[in-house]
Amino acid sequence: MQRNTPRFLIAALVVALSFAALVFATVPRAAGQTEPSPTRRAQSPRSLRLYVFDCGTIHVADLSRFSLKPEEVATTDLSVACFLVTHPKGTLIRDAGAVPDSAWKPTGAAGTQHVMLPDSQQRDVTLSKSLSAQLAEVGYSPPDITYLALSHYHYDHTANANLFAGATWLVRQEERDAMFAEKPPVNTQPSTYAALRNSKTLILKTDDHDVFGDGTVIIKWAPGHTPGHQVLYLKLPRTGPVLVSGDLYHYPEERALDRVPTFEFNPAQTRATRVAIDAFLKKTGAQLWIQHDFLANAKLKKSPRYYD
Ligand SMILES: [Zn+2]
Repeated sequence: MQRNTPRFLIAALVVALSFAALVFATVPRAAGQTEPSPTRRAQSPRSLRLYVFDCGTIHVADLSRFSLKPEEVATTDLSVACFLVTHPKGTLIRDAGAVPDSAWKPTGAAGTQHVMLPDSQQRDVTLSKSLSAQLAEVGYSPPDITYLALSHYHYDHTANANLFAGATWLVRQEERDAMFAEKPPVNTQPSTYAALRNSKTLILKTDDHDVFGDGTVIIKWAPGHTPGHQVLYLKLPRTGPVLVSGDLYHYPEERALDRVPTFEFNPAQTRATRVAIDAFLKKTGAQLWIQHDFLANAKLKKSPRYYD
């Protein structure tokens, strides 16, 4: 029996080495990957793409804040949209939702979260999917994101901003100053963007900022709702030009009936910006996507489908 043992060991060793050879043969580049991951990772697309994420629905109880009456609107609900722009030179997140992913657990069905702002204002927001899960579904995680561009500082646009503290933040000085002032503006939830204080930050000084340098992704200063409020203009190769509104309008009826909300930073500036943007839409032929327009947003293709 003892004489058989070495032969058994040799056989076992041969089997083990064969397995090892098989394993290394099937994943020859494993050692060269910097971040092996069980989930699929997105490749940089060869051309521009726009993904629309569902970041919830706000149930508005008081329409008078928007200078509207219930009978004047098709629905009182507001959609909350977040966007991912992917470009051969990088990625950009536009707006970060109304409720932080860390504050709730998706169940697979829509559920309503109660949001309490620091000044005791309260909102109900219905959510189905987390922003992180929607990003992961198309192969991205927050550290993959090159740029963060919030339309403005209100709570329903900043909820997951801290997730993107590793990105370069594209913001105007007056907006950033207000966000980190000793007394932050109303309708903000400063804890949701506190980590941006130390982010790599590009202060936008021109009215138009060309994000990737080829004229396809432009952040346009559109002040009034907040001092550094910005809209996003995209020149999509197949869809054509699109202007993503931020809160230049919330309800389409604000545009149709010429109403300005009561909580603008500067209502006169909002009116002037609306006139300038109308002229820009006419000049470019761009579609206007009102981010909070519930019925229009419902018709948009949602991620993982995309506009290109
Ligand atoms: Zn908003």
